[in-house]
Amino acid sequence: MEPLELPLNQPPAPDPEPVAQPEPEPEVRLPDYISPIVACRVWQWDASGLRSLNGEPWLPGKPLAAGCRVSDSGTLVGRAETANGNHAAPQGGCTCGVYAAKDFEHLRRTGYDRYGIHGEVCLWGTVMEHQLGWRAEFAYPKTLWLPLDALPVTLKEIQCRIQSLLAYGCDVSIVDNAATIPSGGKPRDSMRPGWIS
Ligand SMILES: [Zn+2]
Repeated sequence: MEPLELPLNQPPAPDPEPVAQPEPEPEVRLPDYISPIVACRVWQWDASGLRSLNGEPWLPGKPLAAGCRVSDSGTLVGRAETANGNHAAPQGGCTCGVYAAKDFEHLRRTGYDRYGIHGEVCLWGTVMEHQLGWRAEFAYPKTLWLPLDALPVTLKEIQCRIQSLLAYGCDVSIVDNAATIPSGGKPRDSMRPGWIS
C-alpha cells in the first residue's frame, strides 16, 4: 500500500457527508444497495483459518469490520473489530481501515506475494481510495488462490487446512505458484468450495 503518515494527536476530521454504514451481519450478506469493490489481498493461513499479516483473525461467515486504534497505540496492530475507535474507520487523514491492493501486480511489486496466500476481497461500507489500494470499513474474502507450494506435506494436514478455507464459502483455486496469478484476472482451474472430499 502507499505510505501514509500517522497523524499525531490530531482530532479526527469530520465526515464531509453522511455515509450509510451497514451494521455487521451475523451471516455474510453483502448490502444489496451497493456494489462491493473487489480488490486483492494477502493473508496468513493456518489450520485455524485466515489472518491479516498483522495477526488480525478473519472469521468464517463474519465480515471483518475496521476500527481505529491509531490514536490509542500509534500502530495499526490490534483487533480492529473490537476497537472502540476514536472515530469511524476508515477516515481521511488517518491510516485505519481494512487494507487491500487494486491489483495483484501491486502485491507482487511490493513483495507481499511472498507471504501467505492471496486472493480477492470484497470491500464495502465506507471505502477510501488511494493510488494503489483501498482502506475499507468492511471486508470479506471472495476468492482464494492457493499456491501448491503452500500446501502442507501430508494428506491429512492438507485436508485440515483446506477445510479451514472452505469454511469461508469462497472460491478456492489451486495455482502452481504465485507467479501464475494473472494481474487483474482469475487464475485458471478455478474450483468451487467442496472440490475436496
Ligand atoms: Zn483512524
